[in-house]
Amino acid sequence: MKRQTKKFKTEVQQLLNLVIHSLYSKHEIFLRELISNASDAIDRRRFEALTGDKTGDNDWQGRIIVTIDRQNRQLSIADNGTGMDAAELAQNIGTIASSGTRSFLQTLQENQKGGTELIGQFGVGFYSAFMVADLVTVLSKRAGIESSVVKWESKGAGTFTIEESDQSIDSGTKVILHLKDEMDCYLDPAVIKRIIKEYSDYIAYPVMLNDGTGKEDEQVNSQKALWKQPRDLVSDEQYSEFYRHITHDHADPLGRLHIAAEGTVEFKALLFIPSKAQIDLFRPDYNGGVQLYVNNVFITDRCRDLLPEYLRFIRGVVDSSDLPLNVSREILQNDRNVHLIKKNVVSRILGYLAETMKEQRETYDKFWREFGCIIKEGCHPGNNDLSKLTGLLLFKSTQCLDDKFVSLAEYIERMQEGQQHIYYLSSDSDAALHSPHLEVFSKRGIEVLLMDHPVDDFMLMHLSEYDRHMLKPVDRGDLDLPAGKDDKEQAGGDDKQTDKPHSDLLRKLQDILAGKVSDVRISKRLTDSACCLVAHENSLPSSLEQMMRSMNQPVPTTNPVLEINPEHPVLQITKQLFENNPRGEELAGLAEVLYAQAGIANGILPEDPGAFNRNIWAIARKAYAGKDAANTE
Ligand code: ADP
Repeated sequence: MKRQTKKFKTEVQQLLNLVIHSLYSKHEIFLRELISNASDAIDRRRFEALTGDKTGDNDWQGRIIVTIDRQNRQLSIADNGTGMDAAELAQNIGTIASSGTRSFLQTLQENQKGGTELIGQFGVGFYSAFMVADLVTVLSKRAGIESSVVKWESKGAGTFTIEESDQSIDSGTKVILHLKDEMDCYLDPAVIKRIIKEYSDYIAYPVMLNDGTGKEDEQVNSQKALWKQPRDLVSDEQYSEFYRHITHDHADPLGRLHIAAEGTVEFKALLFIPSKAQIDLFRPDYNGGVQLYVNNVFITDRCRDLLPEYLRFIRGVVDSSDLPLNVSREILQNDRNVHLIKKNVVSRILGYLAETMKEQRETYDKFWREFGCIIKEGCHPGNNDLSKLTGLLLFKSTQCLDDKFVSLAEYIERMQEGQQHIYYLSSDSDAALHSPHLEVFSKRGIEVLLMDHPVDDFMLMHLSEYDRHMLKPVDRGDLDLPAGKDDKEQAGGDDKQTDKPHSDLLRKLQDILAGKVSDVRISKRLTDSACCLVAHENSLPSSLEQMMRSMNQPVPTTNPVLEINPEHPVLQITKQLFENNPRGEELAGLAEVLYAQAGIANGILPEDPGAFNRNIWAIARKAYAGKDAANTE
């Protein structure tokens, strides 16, 4: 193979410039990143050997060797993992395959300070080598196939070269760092040992140090799988460092769960809730899941069969000796023990969340802000854990705005005397808070849950009650409110809140608006606005209607009901027009205006804005003419 000089992809170069020219307080993380890459490569080779894709030698043991060469000012990290051929080298460390890179660069530019912590989060760990080295050489030999040693080399400025090398190495990869002048500290064995201990102690393979003095290689890490250790022997820092190792997330996790399960199926698990939702969590191609080990042997990185979709944000490791070593996707899906482990893990996670909600509400609120929408996805009738899940739900409400939330149990606790139902308003606009539908509720101090996410309507299709209280939308059907103070005072006397005294007028209005409304009635929910539209009890939520329309599905529509506020002057005005001339254009115009206004309050523009404007002016002109006549009298 001839020596080839290639250009880094623009993004890589941009990234390198940032890595090299920004001043970082902790260069030392380069070693963590390179050891982590080495460990991943050994994981992959073990897996290849296991599945028989590329035969591995039975006696083969994964190991990583860090070598200090003081004379040549070099530090190298060698692994006996998969290795890379020329094409893989150019692809993997010349371009950045991961789409997270662009976001990484953006985040880095916005947040200059957090640079070091961010490296690794988006899969750019290798390039951290250029923080300490002005020349990086990679020698690599692909395992499992007859191949030669390939040498990749770069100064981190614009280009890299690839050529065949006559050096001989075992299969695997050796990264040689030619240290910068001011990076002498990384030639000190004590420093290197400390860094390995601090960041890479739990790496599952021995990390050996060859300190260049001719002494025998020394194993530096304890190699203990953290998840197999008793809980009280693991420190918070160790947990966090391990979390960073498996997720490349720079922040500490929000919560963790360390499980040692015994009984029908035995397994250990170390699971984490990230503090922020992963950037691609809501994308259909989100690559979630936990790492699966079978008795210490790494099987797969992103196992999706151990957690339901609605817990796909959880990261971590599950290790069981009760699974077959030679597992494929199909085996995993059909294995009885996998199902048992999944059930057990899910139940513990839900228990953990319930406890956090009870004991550490602020943390739980944070969790909810990031992952609440995903939890709601799990609220469907096919889910056996539905009742546990509904207990975990939080909502915004008319009494819990901004950053606060209320749970269904808390809502029930503070219901008004005589209140039977849990009320909610479903709307994705901020204007919802001023919706006429909320008027009577705010007057009576009845809390209303605000459903503002598209997943809410989906969830509400299956969530009709909680703890024997029905969930009722405030903007549909008849209202069945507890009697308010005013009602009690009026009880037995005035029946102005009912349709009876206005039945002729209401019938007339309905005639005028035929085809647009299914009924016109006196409202029990308005205190200030003149009128509002109320959806029919059985109609679909508007977001589902919209979704069906966008999918060209026929949407069963039921016309809404127009409700008129009996306390509002509009009722008297309409009545007068009706009594003066029931067939007059004025009454018809006013009816159309009322209908359009009620729609506007729901965020719906009048179907015929021109006619709406003409009607308004006709009413204004009439009112002005009336006043003028009165003045001249
Ligand atoms: P990440 O490891 O987060 O994917 P890196 O920039 O550190 O990102 O590495 C890019 C890719 O290069 C890796 O995904 C892997 O395919 C390859 N790679 C890096 N180091 C090694 C290694 N020691 N052995 C084999 N492949 C490696």
